[in-house]
Amino acid sequence: MAAVTMIGLGIGGALGSVSTAIKPDASVKMTPQAALASPTPTPAAVMETATPATLEVAQAAPTPTPAPTVTPTPPPLPFEETFTYGYSVENRPLQGFRLGTGESARFIIGAIHGGYEWNTVEVVSKTLEYYREHREELPVNVALYLIPLANPDGYAAGRDAIVGRMNAHSVDLNRNWDYRWQMTATHGTRPVSAGAGPFSEPETAALRDVLLEKRPDAVIFYHSAMGVVFSGADRERSFTYELTESIAAATGYRHQTEGIPGQITTGDAIDWLSTVGIAGTEIELTTHASISEAEWLRNLKGIRAFLEWRVPQSTVVDDGSPENGSLPADAPAGYKWYTIPDGTTLLDIVFSVCEGSIELDELVRLNKIANPDMVPAGMRILIPESCQ
Ligand SMILES: [Zn+2]
Repeated sequence: MAAVTMIGLGIGGALGSVSTAIKPDASVKMTPQAALASPTPTPAAVMETATPATLEVAQAAPTPTPAPTVTPTPPPLPFEETFTYGYSVENRPLQGFRLGTGESARFIIGAIHGGYEWNTVEVVSKTLEYYREHREELPVNVALYLIPLANPDGYAAGRDAIVGRMNAHSVDLNRNWDYRWQMTATHGTRPVSAGAGPFSEPETAALRDVLLEKRPDAVIFYHSAMGVVFSGADRERSFTYELTESIAAATGYRHQTEGIPGQITTGDAIDWLSTVGIAGTEIELTTHASISEAEWLRNLKGIRAFLEWRVPQSTVVDDGSPENGSLPADAPAGYKWYTIPDGTTLLDIVFSVCEGSIELDELVRLNKIANPDMVPAGMRILIPESCQ
């Protein structure tokens, strides 16, 4: 409860006041202004001051100073920073926290469904407190971005499934993303508004922008309360399936690969993440109540697996060499590795080896092939298990 109070105060306290949040990467973007501003002698100036007698000297001496090769080292990023990435319909700040400075960004996002799923604020806040106190446990390659409350207006509106779940425009923010968006979706079988268009809501547009800016390797959205973990659609475009498998194994929540029967979940956040190549997963807590110690501990195991999770190596061909890139030993479920024989094109594989069970576009996306016309013999690619 202390954690929730802390977040509540943070967001309530900043409401209506000027944000004091630090831009997370301000120091990184520092440019050597001083070097740019220092004037270098121009040829005109030299000519003006030079007399015929000293012309030779004048020409030889002031060669323009080259730009300094030593760039100022930016001060190291602090372990923790708070940032504001936008404002809600009712002008509440959308706040996040970064812990750690590694190159692999990871996001954990709570309460896109507001007060209805208020205990997701609790679990993300506990995660923030935990890694503040155990910073040595955060993998050094990771920068962990925590957004405890993605829908502060819904949180302020209470715990009701109809009012508390939506934003202040009565829009379900997990139906407002640009994935098969349609104006009316459902929660269960009850119709909900998905907004006037994809990303019509400031909360989702701001979240999209911060995700695209930081390009995380993996994202968790917390929900409640189905007690399962969902992978996203378009598995061939991101590693959502692999990520979700690892979280299911660590938490013990069942991996549900299909959507909720009877529910129209268009405009879903993690489905959209797949379309931009980011692996996302949805963890559904088991209740709408304050999380028990046991549920916190299973989630902590899941978060550890999430932070240690490595994006499977892709098979991107950079230089045409079949040796390029190291490949994972295990193919994802439903797929197997196939070594391209001499003189075989991708179309041969689609029509002969796989007999049309996979389309060319899908094969290219699945294997992240940069140039389908330049696929060398000997390269290993993933194909459906059903292929010969
Ligand atoms: Zn939800």
